[in-house]
Amino acid sequence: MPETSEKKRKRKRGDVGGRMDSEEDGDQKKKKKESQRPNYFVSIPITNTQMKSLVKEVQEAVLQKEPRLAKAMIPVPTLHITLLVTHLASEEQVELAAAVLAQAAPSVAELLGGRDLVLPFSGIRHFRKEVVFVGLDSGEHRHTLDSLAELVRRRFEEQGLLQGDNRDFEPHLTIMKLSRASKLRFQGIKRVEPGLYSDYTNKFFGNQTVERLDLCSMLKKKQQDGYYHTETSLQLGGRRRSEPDEAELLRVSRRLVEDAVSRALQQYKQETLQNGGGPNAAALQSPGSAEETKTDTTANSSTDNRK
Ligand code: AMP
Repeated sequence: MPETSEKKRKRKRGDVGGRMDSEEDGDQKKKKKESQRPNYFVSIPITNTQMKSLVKEVQEAVLQKEPRLAKAMIPVPTLHITLLVTHLASEEQVELAAAVLAQAAPSVAELLGGRDLVLPFSGIRHFRKEVVFVGLDSGEHRHTLDSLAELVRRRFEEQGLLQGDNRDFEPHLTIMKLSRASKLRFQGIKRVEPGLYSDYTNKFFGNQTVERLDLCSMLKKKQQDGYYHTETSLQLGGRRRSEPDEAELLRVSRRLVEDAVSRALQQYKQETLQNGGGPNAAALQSPGSAEETKTDTTANSSTDNRK
């Protein structure tokens, strides 16, 4: 039946029932889904340089055979094991998540019982030939890692911070994934064929000590070292004996610069006051101002993380 002009008008306005409503519902659902998309994750960074070099070697070997997979390769500085993914909707939630991670320190220490958690990685496996990863060997470390993931997930869940798709924990070190390169589908590449990395299927990649747990942003600009923007880190046993890594050095130096700027500002303000000040002199910030509190907060959380 032809549509009446009244119906046409209503449809334009969007107040006709049926399809339009369901389209709107669909749009709203889509928006809601997008707004709840994971944007943070808890990561165990890969810091073993020998492992990183081997991963690079595999990636290059694959690219020799299939250069179109270049965009599917995980940049080596971002290599990590994901403990959980979630959506943190506000700065408050990010701060809460950081606090939750810091507060988990005693339980994590108890779980590790004073020992390093060392993860041996070998062989290459895949999820549906779309995600290719280096596998974690079986053994006692696997149970400890499962318990660690469970502990952190539970703490996040207790605070209402665990959103989204957290399937059963299946530790994996992703080295390529097709979802990074959506164009590949249109080029007919829907899978990464295992033959492309068959030389490494049973290769030992090395041991990775779990040095720290990082709360990382998926969306913020990566750090200068190429790793994810890290809101906070929970240091575990291994790092205390070794040198601080590049990310930590960057964070510390950033804080030092902030402190220096803050002190210079303070001095300038004091000098202005001593020289007679101005109409706004009384409003000038005193020690313990917002800027310093921010710096202090950073310092405190950093101290907590080193428990
Ligand atoms: P990640 O290394 O955490 O970035 O994970 C890489 C990809 O693997 C993500 O797109 C996940 O959705 C996917 N993934 C993670 N765990 C599993 C699993 N147990 N089964 C299938 N896919 C997974």
